[in-house]
Amino acid sequence: MQELHEKCGVFGAYCNNLEAARLVHMGLWALQHRGQEGSGIVSADGKSMYAHKGMGLVASVYSEPVFSRLRGHIAIGHNRYSTSGGNYDDHLQPVFRRGDRLALAHNGNLADVTKLSRFLHEHGHETDGCNDSEMMHKAIMFWLIKGLTIGEALTNCIDMFTGVYSLLLMTAQQLVAVRDPFGVRPLSLGHLEDGFAVASESCALTPIGATSIREIRPGEMVTFDQHGMHTAKLRDAKPHLDVFEFVYFARPDSVLGGVSVNEVRERSGHELASELDVDCDVIVPVPDSAIPAAIGFAEKRDIAMRLGIVKNRYIDRTFIKPVQRMRDDDVMIKLNPIPDVLRGKRVAIVDDSIVRGTTSKKIVRMARRAGAKEVHVVVSSPPVRFPDFYGIDTPVQQDLLAARMTIPEMCEFIGADSLHFLSLNGLLRAVGIPREQLCLSLFTGEYPVDIGNRKAEVQYFAIA
Ligand code: AMP
Repeated sequence: MQELHEKCGVFGAYCNNLEAARLVHMGLWALQHRGQEGSGIVSADGKSMYAHKGMGLVASVYSEPVFSRLRGHIAIGHNRYSTSGGNYDDHLQPVFRRGDRLALAHNGNLADVTKLSRFLHEHGHETDGCNDSEMMHKAIMFWLIKGLTIGEALTNCIDMFTGVYSLLLMTAQQLVAVRDPFGVRPLSLGHLEDGFAVASESCALTPIGATSIREIRPGEMVTFDQHGMHTAKLRDAKPHLDVFEFVYFARPDSVLGGVSVNEVRERSGHELASELDVDCDVIVPVPDSAIPAAIGFAEKRDIAMRLGIVKNRYIDRTFIKPVQRMRDDDVMIKLNPIPDVLRGKRVAIVDDSIVRGTTSKKIVRMARRAGAKEVHVVVSSPPVRFPDFYGIDTPVQQDLLAARMTIPEMCEFIGADSLHFLSLNGLLRAVGIPREQLCLSLFTGEYPVDIGNRKAEVQYFAIA
């Protein structure tokens, strides 16, 4: 199996009169932050299915001639996020090839595909070069071809889908949304004047005029067809929403698990202020994801928050570049200091997380060059010590700075005067969802969804 680390955005629409592909396009635009490598839409008009996929940002993948081909009242779409090098346009989603009767869009990751690939081999299917999503597509198709419904096919497959998935499935007549029993990745349901929409995040519903109804429940399958919306429970829910969605990935205008992402981030800032005592003259957020936390921190500390670093919004997320050197350059291209704000000041720079440490190191250097007298780095989440297997892009464990170094060593590595992290309890207080209903694996190494043979990749160590 090809190693592809994905964290993606999915959007689906079932409507009676509107052109579904245009709605999905708008939805994908709002979910651009969840994947910038490529995008795809598959639509259907009750008889046939139409597809278009391409590398690049949503704004550059679609055009008027494309929309005139993407006919129909049903559509699903996907924004892909991957950090692996090379040209992976073969893996763009929705998974769909001409002649298929099923399209599939996946957000998440199956950590261990042993059972799934065994099943496919036993039934004469090749899996070479297939990723987890493509294998899921093949397995569901296997049962559809035998005449089963999507619900029956999923019931037969669910025990082989050992991992994390928020899925959108589509035939020429139906749209189906499914969330794994743990609900690690989000999936929101919205109501349109004349139909329904499903989105990775609620922030994508309003731009298309949909009203958010609720989230698809962990273990739930929701079907949309000419008879309306039907819901079925495939498995008992064991909710473990990924806390990192709140920390970094989701947009602040989304609501996850009934909780506003923006409020969680502001409360993380409040928690930081009550946990730390950093003497500083100015608080500067690393844009964009750390802005709410910096607002909260500044509010409680009664110190001015100022924009001392500005982001060029037209550069893709730093992680998108596979080679470390290119990633280094990217930080400098993407972020630029405002020396007037930093010069001669004791600056507290707030970021949401440290993963490899690349960003913090560059930013500290940037702030010093711009004349900052002292640079303190304040992180609104705990140290990321463990790798992710559930669809977030994190590097292997030895590339995580906090897995290799103590906090003082990290501080020295990034060149800061001091380095502070929010405690896990502080983060949990900010989120306000019970600990046992969250996935905290990046911080604790506790993996609520079995990661099978990938356990061998995780090392546990005494935390200094
Ligand atoms: P690093 O430079 O490797 O330490 O990454 C940390 C920076 O990247 C922080 O500024 C975060 O806002 C951002 N970040 C954190 N997690 C991710 C991720 N999974 N993908 C892309 N960027 C991330």
